[in-house]
Amino acid sequence: MYKWVEIDLDAIESNFIKIKEKVGPETKVLGVVKADAYGHGIIEVSRALARSGVDYLGVTEIAEGIKLREAGIKTPILVFGPFLPEDAFYFQEFVLTATLSDLTTIRNIVTQGFSIAVHLKIETGFGRTGFKYNELAELVQMVKNNDNIMVQGIYSHLATSMYSDSSFAYRQFEKFIEAVKFLEKEDLKIPIKHICNSAALVKFPQMHLDMVRAGTILYGQEVAGNQSLQGGLKNAWSLKGQITYINDLPKGHSIGYERAHFLKSAAKTAVVPIGFHHGFSVEPIPRPKGLLDLIKVLAKVLLRFIDHPRVKTYVRIRDKEVPVIGKVGMQMTILDVTSIPDLVIGETVEMPGRRTNISPELPKVYLRDGKPFKIIKDSEKNEEFLNNLSG
Ligand SMILES: *Cc1c(COP(=O)(O)O)cnc(C)c1O
Repeated sequence: MYKWVEIDLDAIESNFIKIKEKVGPETKVLGVVKADAYGHGIIEVSRALARSGVDYLGVTEIAEGIKLREAGIKTPILVFGPFLPEDAFYFQEFVLTATLSDLTTIRNIVTQGFSIAVHLKIETGFGRTGFKYNELAELVQMVKNNDNIMVQGIYSHLATSMYSDSSFAYRQFEKFIEAVKFLEKEDLKIPIKHICNSAALVKFPQMHLDMVRAGTILYGQEVAGNQSLQGGLKNAWSLKGQITYINDLPKGHSIGYERAHFLKSAAKTAVVPIGFHHGFSVEPIPRPKGLLDLIKVLAKVLLRFIDHPRVKTYVRIRDKEVPVIGKVGMQMTILDVTSIPDLVIGETVEMPGRRTNISPELPKVYLRDGKPFKIIKDSEKNEEFLNNLSG
C-alpha cells in the first residue's frame, strides 16, 4: 500500500473508559472529533465512541456535524465554532447543537424562526469567542422570550490548562462560575455546564462540573503536567510506509536537495514514499514563551546546525531507530539504514508525525484486536456537503 495511517480503535475505546473512570458517573464526556478526529478519521472514531457510550461529540464546523449525521450517528453533536447567519438552518435540519457566543447571532436565528438547541459560550479569558459579562442581562431576556432557542448547556474554554502555572485557569473558572450564577439567578435553566479540556480534566477534578470535553487524551497523547490518567493511555495512531528503494553509497557522498547531508562513512540508504506533501516533518515554528523557552529553541536550532544525533528525526524499522538524512522531499524521504544490512524492499517503516498535520488523503487502516478490519481511503465522499454550505 506504500503508505497509510494505522488507527487502533481499541486504544481509543480504552482511553475513553479511562476518562470515564477519572470523571465518575456524574459527569458526562464529550468526545472531541474535530479536525477529522485529530487525524484518526471522524466517522470511524465517532462510531466507536458512540458504541462506548459517549454522551456528546464535539466538532468545530457545521460541515463536520453534517458528515456525522449522514453517516447515521445519533449522538448529540455540539458545534464549537461561530457560523454565518444563513447557515442557521443546518442546525435544525441535521439536529446539531449550536454554540451561541454573541447577541447578533441570536437575533438572526430569532428573525429566521429556526428551532435550535444551543450551548452558550462565555468569554472568560481565551479571547476568541463568547459572551462578555455585560451582555448577560440582554442574553437572558432574549433566550427567555424565544422558545425556539433551547439552552441545553453553557461552557467556556481554558487558554493555559497545559501550563504548570494554574493561576489563569483558576481565574477563568471563577469568571465562568460567576456568569453561570448570574444567569441562574435570572431563572435561566442550564442543564450542562462544562469547561475542561484534556489537560484540565486530568489536573482539575474540581472543574469537571456536568461534562468534560476530551480530545488529545482520547487519542492517547500525553498532556503536560503528568497526573494519574497518564501512563494508562494507549497510543491510537501510527504513520507507516514501505521501503521502495535501497542503495549503497560511498563515504563523502552528498544526500538530496541542497546537499544538506554528507555521508561520514560508506552507508546503506533507503527511500520511503512519504514526504512533506503528506504532512511529514511539517512542524509549526514555536514562538518562545519566555527567556528559558527562547534558550531551548535556540539550542535546538544550534544542535540542528551541527547535525547532532539528538535533534535528528528517527523512524522505526523492525523496532530499530534509524535516522532521516538530508532534506525531506515532497513525496520521498531518505533514511540511513546502515544498521540493518539485510533490509529488503517492501519492509514497513513507522514514521513519527504530528497527527493533525498528516494528510487526510492517506488511507486509514483501522485495527481491532491488533488486526486490520477496515481500510478507508478518505476524501472520496462527503465533499458535496462542504459545497452545500454557503459562506
Ligand atoms: C479542541 C477543543 C477541545 C479539546 O481540547 P484537548 O486539549 O484536545 O482535549 C475542547 N473544547 C473545545 C472548545 C475545543 O475547541
